[in-house]
Amino acid sequence: MGLQAIDQERLTNYMQRAEERAAYFLGYPIARDFDYSDLYPLLKLPLNNIGDPLVESTYDLNSRSLEQEVLAFFADLFRAPADNWWGYVTNGGSEGNLYGLYVARELYPNGIVYYSEATHYSVQKNIQLLNLRSIVIRTDERGEMDYSDLAQMLHMHRDQPAIIFANIGTTMTEAKDDLVEIKSRLRMAAIKNYYIHCDAALAGVYSALLNLKPGFDFGHGADSLAISGHKFIGSPIPCGLVLVKRNYKERIGKAIPYIGTVDTTITGSRNGHSPVFLWYAIKKLGREGLQRRATESLTMATYLESQLLDRGIQAWRNPSAITVVFPEPSKHLRQKWQLATENGCSHVVCMPGVEKTQLDEFLKDMQEDARVSGEMVESLSS
Ligand SMILES: *Cc1c(COP(=O)(O)O)cnc(C)c1O
Repeated sequence: MGLQAIDQERLTNYMQRAEERAAYFLGYPIARDFDYSDLYPLLKLPLNNIGDPLVESTYDLNSRSLEQEVLAFFADLFRAPADNWWGYVTNGGSEGNLYGLYVARELYPNGIVYYSEATHYSVQKNIQLLNLRSIVIRTDERGEMDYSDLAQMLHMHRDQPAIIFANIGTTMTEAKDDLVEIKSRLRMAAIKNYYIHCDAALAGVYSALLNLKPGFDFGHGADSLAISGHKFIGSPIPCGLVLVKRNYKERIGKAIPYIGTVDTTITGSRNGHSPVFLWYAIKKLGREGLQRRATESLTMATYLESQLLDRGIQAWRNPSAITVVFPEPSKHLRQKWQLATENGCSHVVCMPGVEKTQLDEFLKDMQEDARVSGEMVESLSS
């Protein structure tokens, strides 16, 4: 028996509305160009990767073997030390960041977390959950960490281990903190006990694919890093991935007889479908296909920035960023295009799936919006 007519109608309306809203989705960093229809039969199965991805479980209805290949792909991309890495597919970037900080705390229980004021909102909460001390570092006007402020704070607390939380693409302006600068400030303060976690949720994957500067991977000095899977790669279900140096995390995780594996992850049950989506994307596109998508995103961002400037709108981008920042337009436009807005600025993130025709429609709206608000200012002042 199916749904009652009234519920069926409600569902049909909802599904139609979701499709409509997907056509006006420019303000969040979410790829939309995926097609996972080959995997739909798996939606009939309760896949669950409960516990450690590298240790078999009695819960055998899982996708661990594919998850391991996904982890290996990213360990390679981010140059994790060959026999000394570990990780798992998370529910998203936030969980990966929490895990990185958790490992850092187990290593340095009295460490101080240094993170910039442009850091993702979830991080402060996670620092509270972990009961860690922290210091917020200023940023420049484009969202990058102010290294002289960092140097000053490190100097004042040089008797404590430092846990650096670096942004590889901030949420609002896609600014990247530079590990070379950070490490030089740690050296200047003569702090030997430190840990660097990179929040690469937003920009990590395409930055690594295109070898963009500044580098942030394990070879550049990261001790752990987190990415989101539903952002650049694309997934119908939010997901992510965390990688840490294996020797650091060895103090975490107990053997649990009930699941027949070790409890090394933050949550118990873990989504068994999202690793399959990631696996499918990696295999289907390959590194070259992923690189091509990254280059296309950059092309779209360059186009949008220059077109906005041509229309007299003060748009800007950080170097090699796919996020275009501009003064906030009217509320109507922000709602129509689902534009994230903060402190008078909005942005469009040119993730894969953003098309030129869509940008042209958006540009038309922006131009009309600027004209109307210009007229309003004129009529107010006359
Ligand atoms: C999106 C994002 C996060 C959070 O990731 P989720 O996948 O939404 O949990 C953290 N940091 C930055 C910079 C992000 O852009």
